[in-house]
Amino acid sequence: MNRPKFTVDSIRPDSLKKLQKYAKEADLEWLSTKFDSFVEGHCPICGGDSDSKIIYNIGNKLHYNICNDCNTLFLGTRPDKNAYDEFYNISKTMKLFATHIFKESYVSRLNNIYKPRLQLMLQYFGKFSTQKGKFLEIGAGSGVFSQLVNETKVFFRLHCYRAFSLSRRFLSSKGT
Ligand SMILES: [Zn+2]
Repeated sequence: MNRPKFTVDSIRPDSLKKLQKYAKEADLEWLSTKFDSFVEGHCPICGGDSDSKIIYNIGNKLHYNICNDCNTLFLGTRPDKNAYDEFYNISKTMKLFATHIFKESYVSRLNNIYKPRLQLMLQYFGKFSTQKGKFLEIGAGSGVFSQLVNETKVFFRLHCYRAFSLSRRFLSSKGT
């Protein structure tokens, strides 16, 4: 198959770089007003915290920890729930993705990311089970991948969690 070259521009269009930069700066400025709300996070998978290690600082008082019990990588110190809720309502970056970037890069994301990911996932599950199971996607972005998974009918139940309502609007515009 002769597919067009997969580039960053095809999923984050260069034409939107200025808007993306402006949105990121605005979000970081907002984040700087929330440092007092930061809380120490526990491993979201097993709840462990005592032995987790800070392994990577990402700036703005945020860092990743790795859980010593289950090796999950998670955000260590992070904004509290109220700040998260506020962020998903006001974030200019999230809005830009939902209103422009996901739409303009839909075909490239579908063909270069979601469909190959689905193939890999189905191959992997096929090695271990022939029974239908449950599928859970957390932080599903535009939700396109969950939609593809649903269309396979491989899983008898599917849960898809997205924090950002504008992504749901995008899915609606795609007829889902
Ligand atoms: Zn853990």
